[in-house]
Amino acid sequence: MAWLWGKINLRSSSSRLLTECLGYMNGSFDKLTKELENYLIKKGCKINYNCEIKEIIQKNEKWEINGNKYDYVLSTVAYPITKKIYRNYLTEIEKEKIDKIKYTAARTMMIISKKPFTDFYWLNIGEKDIPFGGIIEHTNMVSSKKYNGKNIIYISNYMYSDDKLYTLSERELYQIYEPYLKKIVKNYNPNDILEYHIYDELYAQPIIEVEYSKNILPLKLEKQGLYVATMPQIYPEDRGMNYAIKMGYEVANLIIKSDIHVN
Ligand SMILES: Cc1cc2nc3c(=O)[nH]c(=O)nc-3n(C[C@H](O)[C@H](O)[C@H](O)COP(=O)(O)OP(=O)(O)OC[C@H]3O[C@@H](n4cnc5c(N)ncnc54)[C@H](O)[C@@H]3O)c2cc1C
Repeated sequence: MAWLWGKINLRSSSSRLLTECLGYMNGSFDKLTKELENYLIKKGCKINYNCEIKEIIQKNEKWEINGNKYDYVLSTVAYPITKKIYRNYLTEIEKEKIDKIKYTAARTMMIISKKPFTDFYWLNIGEKDIPFGGIIEHTNMVSSKKYNGKNIIYISNYMYSDDKLYTLSERELYQIYEPYLKKIVKNYNPNDILEYHIYDELYAQPIIEVEYSKNILPLKLEKQGLYVATMPQIYPEDRGMNYAIKMGYEVANLIIKSDIHVN
């Protein structure tokens, strides 16, 4: 399968002489989004914050969203949300393609610990009876000095949204993980754990099935002025911030080149 091959190829080609070459943006992606935000505002863009979009309505060749009028609409949210927002303007084939793509959710637990857990940056876990998929020790890649000597560790877990684990509180989930952490982490001491937090994402990973490529939506939809650029359209590569940015350029160029006159 092209996606699986791509994933293995990418990971192995980022290694040089058996040493993985990884980068980290100091200050995290927040720095990039803040820069982008400032740039766009300087260019005259208006950004509406904390503003959920539930539907779009076409009136007199303009698209109306929350009372504002636009020439083009581009959805960058997950397929099921895009389907709801675009519901009156999608073709049957577009709806079918959207419905065929399933996602898993993800719950990522971030642990702040006085001591490192292991010497590794990334530990994949393939044991069926261990209820999480990996331990990613950020401060084994970036020095803990940047975090006042504290260690930042992520417990990664992808699951379906109807999984019982997806409904548990931070404390309940930690209690389920703890016995396994004790087994994996040498000299594990609960007193070293300073904090833990969970970050949830309902549409975390599109599931790549056989003949997946047949159901990928084009960036430009049938309806004039409507576009979509979101995770399931990244293929055969796996989703990633870099590919999201690349697709952003592609769709922006399509809109610029489109035949509608923009005032
Ligand atoms: C656990 C996990 C780990 C990952 N690790 C990495 C990694 O190490 N490196 C990497 O490159 N990528 C990683 N990714 C993938 C990366 O996060 C995505 O590829 C990227 O965030 C996609 O960007 P996006 O802007 O398309 O979507 P998102 O970042 O999902 O942004 C969509 C936005 O739309 C908003 N929204 C949703 N519905 C509405 C609505 N109705 N109205 C208005 N706004 C709405 C959401 O609140 C959200 O802010 C990871 C993803 C997950 C889940």
